[in-house]
Amino acid sequence: MSVNQQAHTGPPYGQPQPGYQGYQQPAYGGQSLPGVPQSQYGAYNGPMPGYQQPVPPQGYFPSLGFPSKGSPVSLNSDTSSLAPNFIGSLRAPPTSGAPPPASGASHPSGHLAYSQFEHGDVQNGIPASAAPMQRPPASQPFLPGSAPTPVSQISTFQQYGPPPASVQQLRNHMAGMTIGSTAASAPPPAGLGYGVGPSSYPPTTGAPRPPAMPGPPLPGQTVAGPPPSSQPNHVSSPPPPSSMAGLHPGPPMSGLHGPPPPTHPPQPGYQMQQNGSFGQMRGPQPNYGGAYPGAPNYGSPPGPPPPPKRLDPDSIPSPIQVIEDDRNNRGSEPFVTGVRGQVPPLVTTNFLVKDQGNASPRYIRCTSYNIPCTSDMAKQSQVPLAAVIKPLATLPPEETLPYLVDHGESGPVRCNRCKAYMCPFMQFIEGGRRFQCCFCSCVTEVPPHYFQHLDHTGKRVDFYDRPELSLGSYEFLATVDYCKNNKFPSPPAFIFMIDVSYNAVKSGLVRLICEELKSLLDYLPREGNMEESAIRVGFVTYNKVLHFYNVKSSLAQPQMMVVSDVADMFVPLLDGFLVNVNESRTVIASLLDQIPEMFADTRETETVFAPVIQAGLEALKAAECAGKLFIFHTSLPIAEAPGKLKNRDDRKLINTDKEKTLFQPQTSFYNNLAKDCVAQGCCVDLFLFPNQYLDVATLGVVPYQTGGSIYKYAYFQLETDQYRFLNDLRRDVQKEVGFDAVMRVRTSTGIRATDFFGAFYMSNTTDVEMAGLDCDKTITVEFKHDDKLNEDSGALLQCALLYTSCAGQRRLRIHNLSLNCCTQLADLYRNCETDTLINYLAKYAYRGVLSSPVKTVRDALINQCAQILACYRKNCASPSSAGQLILPECMKLLPVYLNCVLKSDVLQPGPEVTTDDRAYIRQLVTSMDVAETNVFFYPRLLPLTKADVDSDSLPAAIRNSEERLSKGDIYLLENGLNVFVWVGVSVQQGLIQNLFGVSSFSQISNALSTLPVLENPFSKKVRSIVDMIQGQRSRYMKLIIVKQEDKLEMLFKHFLVEDKSLSGGASYVDFLCHMHKEIRQLLS
Ligand SMILES: [Zn+2]
Repeated sequence: MSVNQQAHTGPPYGQPQPGYQGYQQPAYGGQSLPGVPQSQYGAYNGPMPGYQQPVPPQGYFPSLGFPSKGSPVSLNSDTSSLAPNFIGSLRAPPTSGAPPPASGASHPSGHLAYSQFEHGDVQNGIPASAAPMQRPPASQPFLPGSAPTPVSQISTFQQYGPPPASVQQLRNHMAGMTIGSTAASAPPPAGLGYGVGPSSYPPTTGAPRPPAMPGPPLPGQTVAGPPPSSQPNHVSSPPPPSSMAGLHPGPPMSGLHGPPPPTHPPQPGYQMQQNGSFGQMRGPQPNYGGAYPGAPNYGSPPGPPPPPKRLDPDSIPSPIQVIEDDRNNRGSEPFVTGVRGQVPPLVTTNFLVKDQGNASPRYIRCTSYNIPCTSDMAKQSQVPLAAVIKPLATLPPEETLPYLVDHGESGPVRCNRCKAYMCPFMQFIEGGRRFQCCFCSCVTEVPPHYFQHLDHTGKRVDFYDRPELSLGSYEFLATVDYCKNNKFPSPPAFIFMIDVSYNAVKSGLVRLICEELKSLLDYLPREGNMEESAIRVGFVTYNKVLHFYNVKSSLAQPQMMVVSDVADMFVPLLDGFLVNVNESRTVIASLLDQIPEMFADTRETETVFAPVIQAGLEALKAAECAGKLFIFHTSLPIAEAPGKLKNRDDRKLINTDKEKTLFQPQTSFYNNLAKDCVAQGCCVDLFLFPNQYLDVATLGVVPYQTGGSIYKYAYFQLETDQYRFLNDLRRDVQKEVGFDAVMRVRTSTGIRATDFFGAFYMSNTTDVEMAGLDCDKTITVEFKHDDKLNEDSGALLQCALLYTSCAGQRRLRIHNLSLNCCTQLADLYRNCETDTLINYLAKYAYRGVLSSPVKTVRDALINQCAQILACYRKNCASPSSAGQLILPECMKLLPVYLNCVLKSDVLQPGPEVTTDDRAYIRQLVTSMDVAETNVFFYPRLLPLTKADVDSDSLPAAIRNSEERLSKGDIYLLENGLNVFVWVGVSVQQGLIQNLFGVSSFSQISNALSTLPVLENPFSKKVRSIVDMIQGQRSRYMKLIIVKQEDKLEMLFKHFLVEDKSLSGGASYVDFLCHMHKEIRQLLS
């Protein structure tokens, strides 16, 4: 094996960041290039040669090629959005038709009828509606940071400068945040279900508690009395159930400790909440007052204690309600990004974005849009400051793709000092001859060709003609200075590497892949209007040895070359290995026909793995290009070769200090290989088909560190799993991807990026390197203070991604975001986004399990959240009894979502979860965006039988608890990886007939992997819902039919995350009480 001596270590941007003195930043590629000055990537550096006449603005043109997904939420009436599979990411088949095989007899290349592609709709490239640039009319003055038009009531306190948070506003806000005691006699809950002794219970006098807010009720504030039906987050504490930890309000009843903690009684028929009243107890209680659950039983003989009471789930913050409210309040107006520090609508709300100077929330979401001015404040609050960045995110067709800006041969205009790119926040001074950097304050001369006059407001007159002055997101065409070795890149290559060992052949997988590739190769990513893809392809098969194929167009038949010395991998052929699909069509087709036949009788069960990656890497090196390896692999690589692995799975390690080793690779070999791959721009996508443990933690290292993806199909069966696999493969091959990518996040003075989470490699502390970065991948970046921030100037982020497009064009994608800064903690807590916070916390925890015992990680999570909420309680909430749990309005779901993270398979595995599953999920979550983590941790549960077959809308979601299910209904639950269809035992026969085509519940087969296609409105509606949901997710979800009271129901119940889990995870109610206890301990 050849070791890459030219380690790719350097950042691309050449110059030191301010504040990072002493940090050597070599040129791109890590080598000192003689004759190339350090400032090779810098902006124009020369002296200003006197006054220059203004130069006409450089043209710009839209960047091309990013496909769009369907709208995220509502059922789109456009039938294309109901097309199966990956909606919108498909390209229509070439109109000219694929050339037929040269001669049918010897080269049966045969293009399969490709129905999925046929109705795949053409949404690739630039949507017609996006062609004209959307920008404010010239007559409308527009300054980024000041609202051009009032967008909603929110904009009133989103101007630059401190928000005018009036006392009144604040109070109104707080009123909505209180989960306080309204029933005067109700004592607070205390550590329900967590074994807290009565000693920790605060003295209860029985005297009426003051209302949560002193003084008369303010408008919109609820103090007592009938609650608003839609806002159940102002809740009185019910008496703690006697059953839980023996806590009794009122007179202590010594010795009476009630029954064990309640298990949720299955109440399949129980559907609607009895009422929405606050503080109501649920359950039968006719005999005694709610406040005295421990009271004598009125003459009942001693015997089983009364049924346990608990906090009414309807009285605690409901994710469904929060999602619905946000949809109703924010779904109708476009989100206009011209205002600093605006909190965007939730990821579950369907909204349009208009870029007016800040990056769309589809590209960047933050944990808070108003960050504390000082590190002391930040530490006090414990609210992590993080941004979740998806640089190549797919936009809906209605939104404009980033424009491509060309600043000419000298490259993009940048700050001389910190190298930040020209953006809407740079201040032009001295009549436009210089600009002051918004990140480091350094003043830079405007290059002559970029000069423009300023208008009377100090704005350049070409403001609206230049995306980099008026928009939050745009692209620059990169010059050769931004290219590795100062050479423009070649177009990338795709190499398909197929395991042909016994299991792969026997299961039909090899034949399936070969058949699929014959058609799929016509759908490789193309740039814009290009007729054909620039991507070249190559093929390798392997078991214990590797087989390379020469598919040069001049050959009549493909040629195979076997490399059996896997210890020192080399590529036995250069010419003819990577080819253009159209030119070599017949040879490729012949090869793909022959592969399944060649290995049909193989007895070889052993495989190698690392040499496969090395082979792909060497091939890309030889071709001097970046690229992607698609590896289809079935087993633990035990054959004698570099990177050979042993089976070290050991479930006994769970809950021990050694559990972390299950997540760590068993050898560092793959880390070194990953580093070499990143240096070459060799991204690895891995499709796994295991029948047993194959050590995902180790095999995943290279995909993970190169920015690739892992897909896993355990116990792959052709019949049930091929559809899902093929959908994933098609999407993976076709999706937009940038190669040889380097991302840097610059920040204005006062904060800096300190930590990064995602699938990438870092050779220094600032640059995130990815051999490939696709449209689904997210990088979460944490920020820390290194100085004070200023309320007036706020804080700025600029994410710059340098990458090679699928046609080999070197580009920079820039995203800018401005945030507010605050001196009052209340402002921080009013502008947080819990979904993003959970994304960060999950990634933080999932990284933590690599180095710490899982219990330590869990405890740290709980502690951090308790501190966040305690700080709010202490500093922002009005004085009230310690018995009240008071949550900030925008964090009221933090406890329920955090509990979902704590109960997830990585942090608390159930008995059915394998070590490979956990490693797989850990890696998946680390690249997820906010929408994906949201539905992954709190799945979406829809009552299908409530769907209106005549409308495009989805049925209203319900909360993830068994008691919300009715045995007379059918439900869909999805979490981004699986879709369950749950059928109650009492569902009407007609519905069963319509959906499954069988006459009774007992005849429903749970072996179905798709719903039968039946011609009736209910079947059509349900299938359209499933298809739509599939289209919203980056992976094709496995469909699982679950019948109530059937074996599989256990699996389904695992996703009812508000309930107690089989693996010991707390119910939402119990966890909320536990958090309350933790908070009170912190406050006391
Ligand atoms: Zn600067």
